[in-house]
Amino acid sequence: MAGFVLKNRRTTLERAEKFISAEYFTDINLRGRLFGACCPVESLSYFLTPSRILYENAVMQEFIPAKVGDSFGPTWWTSWFRVTLTIPKAWKGEEVHLVWESDGEALLWRNGIPVQGLTKEGEKISYVLTEKLTDEEPHSLELYVELACNGLFGAGQGSMISAPDPNRNFTLYKAELVVFNRDVHELLIDFEVLSDIAKHLGIENQHSYQALYTANKMVNACDVEDRSTFAEVHRLASDFLQQENGKSQHTVHAMGHCHIDTAWLWPYEETIRKCARSWVSVLRLMEKNPSFIFTCSQAQQLEWVKSWYPGLFTQIQEFAEKGQFVIVGGTWVEMDGNLPSGESMVRQFLQGQRFFQQEFGKQCCEFWLPDTFGYSAQLPQIMQGCGITRFLTQKLSWNLVNEFPHHTFFWEGIDGSRVLTHFPPGNSYEMKCKVEELLNTVKNNKDKGRVNDSAFLFGFGDGGGGPTQDMLDRLQRVQNTDGLPRVKQSSPETFFSILEADTTMLCTWVGELFLELHNGSYTSQAKIKKGNRKCECILHSVEVVSSLASVQKDTFEYPSSQLQHLWRLLLLNQFHDVLPGTCIQPVVEDAVKFYEEIQSNGNELLKEAIQCLLGGSEQETGKNIHVLNTLSWERTEVISMPRLEGDEVLALIKVPSVGFATVTKPLVPPHPVIVNSQGDGSVLMENGILKVAFDSSGRITSLSHLLYKRETIPDGCCGNQFVLFDDVPLYWDAWDVMDYHLETRKPVSQVVKSLEVVCPGGVRGSVRYSIRISDSSKIRQEIILDACCPYVKFKTEVEWHEAHKFLKVEFPTTVHSLNATYEIQFGHLQRPTHRNTSWDWARFEVWGHKWADLSEHGFGVAILNDCKYGYSVHRNIMTLSLLRAPKAPDATADMDHHQFTYAIMPHAGSFQEANVIQFAYNINYPLHIVPAEPSVSASSFWSAFSIQSPAVVLETIKQAEDRQNALVARLYESHGSTVVTWLHTSLPVKQAIWCDLLEQPMTTKPLSITDFQIQLSFTPFQIRSLLLTF
Ligand SMILES: [Zn+2]
Repeated sequence: MAGFVLKNRRTTLERAEKFISAEYFTDINLRGRLFGACCPVESLSYFLTPSRILYENAVMQEFIPAKVGDSFGPTWWTSWFRVTLTIPKAWKGEEVHLVWESDGEALLWRNGIPVQGLTKEGEKISYVLTEKLTDEEPHSLELYVELACNGLFGAGQGSMISAPDPNRNFTLYKAELVVFNRDVHELLIDFEVLSDIAKHLGIENQHSYQALYTANKMVNACDVEDRSTFAEVHRLASDFLQQENGKSQHTVHAMGHCHIDTAWLWPYEETIRKCARSWVSVLRLMEKNPSFIFTCSQAQQLEWVKSWYPGLFTQIQEFAEKGQFVIVGGTWVEMDGNLPSGESMVRQFLQGQRFFQQEFGKQCCEFWLPDTFGYSAQLPQIMQGCGITRFLTQKLSWNLVNEFPHHTFFWEGIDGSRVLTHFPPGNSYEMKCKVEELLNTVKNNKDKGRVNDSAFLFGFGDGGGGPTQDMLDRLQRVQNTDGLPRVKQSSPETFFSILEADTTMLCTWVGELFLELHNGSYTSQAKIKKGNRKCECILHSVEVVSSLASVQKDTFEYPSSQLQHLWRLLLLNQFHDVLPGTCIQPVVEDAVKFYEEIQSNGNELLKEAIQCLLGGSEQETGKNIHVLNTLSWERTEVISMPRLEGDEVLALIKVPSVGFATVTKPLVPPHPVIVNSQGDGSVLMENGILKVAFDSSGRITSLSHLLYKRETIPDGCCGNQFVLFDDVPLYWDAWDVMDYHLETRKPVSQVVKSLEVVCPGGVRGSVRYSIRISDSSKIRQEIILDACCPYVKFKTEVEWHEAHKFLKVEFPTTVHSLNATYEIQFGHLQRPTHRNTSWDWARFEVWGHKWADLSEHGFGVAILNDCKYGYSVHRNIMTLSLLRAPKAPDATADMDHHQFTYAIMPHAGSFQEANVIQFAYNINYPLHIVPAEPSVSASSFWSAFSIQSPAVVLETIKQAEDRQNALVARLYESHGSTVVTWLHTSLPVKQAIWCDLLEQPMTTKPLSITDFQIQLSFTPFQIRSLLLTF
């Protein structure tokens, strides 16, 4: 009765696990037989360089001898190795690998082309020299290894997200030739899968025991010294694994993936090499595994590889043609989902989809953003407008408070657009294809009974790396094994088509996908936030003015290639670890450099376009000026006018929409600003619209709306109150601000310099003061009230040198409302001001764009800003988040001098009726002032476009892509209303036709143009684009 043994579950399972252990008993177990004979490489030499250089350049350098065990560095340097090797003739018939085991990330070059990524952390240490050695093939080779002195996750000092250790060294552990025993490898996978099934199906599942006893039988049958026993062992495993499922089993659609952060704990430039290392390895896997499908997003990364590794890029295109290398996402980078403007989001898709069309002959059908910190409620409409109806992410599984209720559902935006959305239920984008992950995918699925298919993204990610052969082998074993989900390698197209075939049971989630984590990222790295907002505004202005110039002046050439370059830089910086401010210092430096380039080149382009459109120049000394407005409404504002004497004078002027005014005489304000200093150091200012009182430390003690006769500040409270919080998150420093920080509120009120009057009234009243935050940090502020202006403006400078502190400014109000409104991309949404449910209080810190508003019927208060994104409105207190002081991953984050402007605007009626939206734009888009030629002597106005309804914003005017004599005008409904209105243009428009966000005509029927007017209709928050031909 041999073999009839009572089996203890634990010892039996552990016996099978030890049989393949890489740690225990390797002298006698199966794992120890994976490699056969080995021999060292023939010679090894190296040279070190601080920069990332091309192969051609590297191989010309002088190499010096190196040996296994040596270390190389420091951090961010590159060590290039020349490796010569000779494969022993005696290994004929064997599979031979070069094993390269080192710290850092290596790329192997053969005959001048990259052939394999070799990164220990990504479980890639061997390169297949030959699958079966023959006498004919060359036995002696010279190879190069480019070793980047950084890990997959950079070089954090002490912990992954700490600032990088600049002095790290990287050791070479192994460089040798080995005989690889493929049959042993196959058995190892068999054993691993069987043991995992036994372990993870659990004791209540009989199949678990069947797997366990099969594995045990395999150990008994396997004689590691006698390879003739292997076939029988493999057969035992196959017999078990091929017991099939019933028809109702869930199907997991496995897709290879390699999330590469475009910059994060390493600089942009290293990402270029990460792409090469990761993708060249993917191609090797594709050659061996014809059913392997790999999904790849981010046009920018492909564009980098195209210019740095053209040969590799051609191979990628070939595998894309075969359907194995699948482009997804449609965007330029995987951008932050909250902070980019609406137009920026459109450009992410426009630049992305155009690149994919050009290089791969097709556009993406699914938006792909697995790792971004929340998703704007305007994204569904933007996706739909860019040819995308499907969306994949998983980041909401990181929610700290509430578990998101779906994995497959329709996501509906603020305008009612819907996209089919899928969160892979494994809650990860870097699976290793283990049995446990497959089982969790089925178990976690929140839409059981509605959906029987889910996506499964596998491959090392974040720092790159991607899938491995082991992962593919695991998948191969369990394609249809009773008790496990069915596993298929599918493209996103196949997967989403299956979902689309039956959506009758799917639920719909309306509004934003808010990530209940990482809310500090709305504020961290203020310089990056400011750069983003300023550059968005500059590019808007350059496009508007260049468009007008190109229509009005034959001689003007629209700077399309320069604009494409600048837009791409801006879009790059919107990557989901850069714009959120969650990257290391070198990335911040690069980002700031790109913003400076956009600003200086943008201003240059703007100047050229203005000069062409208006004449005049900086050098002119005429006493009159042209004032240019790129926004789609008339503006009456106080500007600073240059004078012949060289100094400047404040003047109230009026400028038409999308046009200019030539000003010879400023307006006389109907109600000049009156400034009154009181004996106690307080100051009163009044402009006929508002009356505001400040105490000597710059706080607002009273703010009255004169027309509505309404006080804004509650009794005994102060507006413009700076407050400081302790800001120590649990781990993710630059990312997270935790709910408990609210318990540490401390008002900042120690006066350094009391309030004093700067502008005594007339067209402008202003005061200034400074207060102390700490020994090393202080705030200086000029508070401005202009004639005809319905808001009080705070021009703020902060010297900020703190650790783990959060600076905000508060405005307590007399407004009672259950909801506050926040501007988002092309619209706005509401969030509760109370903390009833966990979904409400999880949003203690939220994001918004240029304004937030708290209104009751007939009256409200808005906060406007020129470069901030973090807000909170709790009960009646409105708070704008200003500066944080995280220390990881950039130890120097935000330690600097900061300048920003915000404003408080009490208003009668709704915020829509009070034009809060327009005033917030005005603060962000300054009027452009150009001295007129001396010959100009009369005032004049010219407007290119105007819109009858204040609900409709003309956001963008740009030259149409690839079309002669055509402009695109993008408009959106901003009030949340259904509108029929007229667009008036003084330009000689020949034809107007609706187009989508990728600028493709949506119909063949042009709109009728009567007396320079086009009738337009909008539904709430609808974004519509017109293709105008001239
Ligand atoms: Zn990421």
